[in-house]
Amino acid sequence: MGLIDIIKKATFFEILQGMSVTGKYAASKKFTIEYPKEKSIPYPRFRGSQALLADPVTGELNCDACHLCETICPSQCITIESSETPDGKKSLDEFTIDLSRCVFCGFCEEVCPRAAIVMTANYELASYDKRDFILTKEWLIANAVHAHKELKGR
Ligand code: SF4
Ligand code: SF4
Repeated sequence: MGLIDIIKKATFFEILQGMSVTGKYAASKKFTIEYPKEKSIPYPRFRGSQALLADPVTGELNCDACHLCETICPSQCITIESSETPDGKKSLDEFTIDLSRCVFCGFCEEVCPRAAIVMTANYELASYDKRDFILTKEWLIANAVHAHKELKGR
């Protein structure tokens, strides 16, 4: 058998190999999701937009305005405004995240000593208006509905 015949045989074998892979996937379940009619279900640790969690019993926000998340944020996109109550405790006035600068690293969630801020499953964040990327305290509280199931009762 000449060199040309060997090459032809090898090429034919590779084509058969390729066709078998195509055939395997043609017959298997489709992965395509017709977004936005269909929504994908993110993995349990997916890092979508942040939420502020509250105590499920008292309804009080877990955040005690310690500013740790604001300090650790590598994008410096968290702004916290707090004041002091008459009994010397810190009270959270404003909590803002500029999502257009956020890199979704999750450091804010990791550093929080009170499980007050969490990354959620909310990935539908596209907008033509830059102002929509400024997440206010109220927005972050409402976004708790998208918190991953195991974090909701924290
Ligand atoms: S996910 Fe990272 S970049 Fe985004 S707000 Fe949290 S710490 Fe900052
Ligand atoms: S969310 Fe957590 S880390 Fe950030 S200020 Fe509140 S308690 Fe501190």
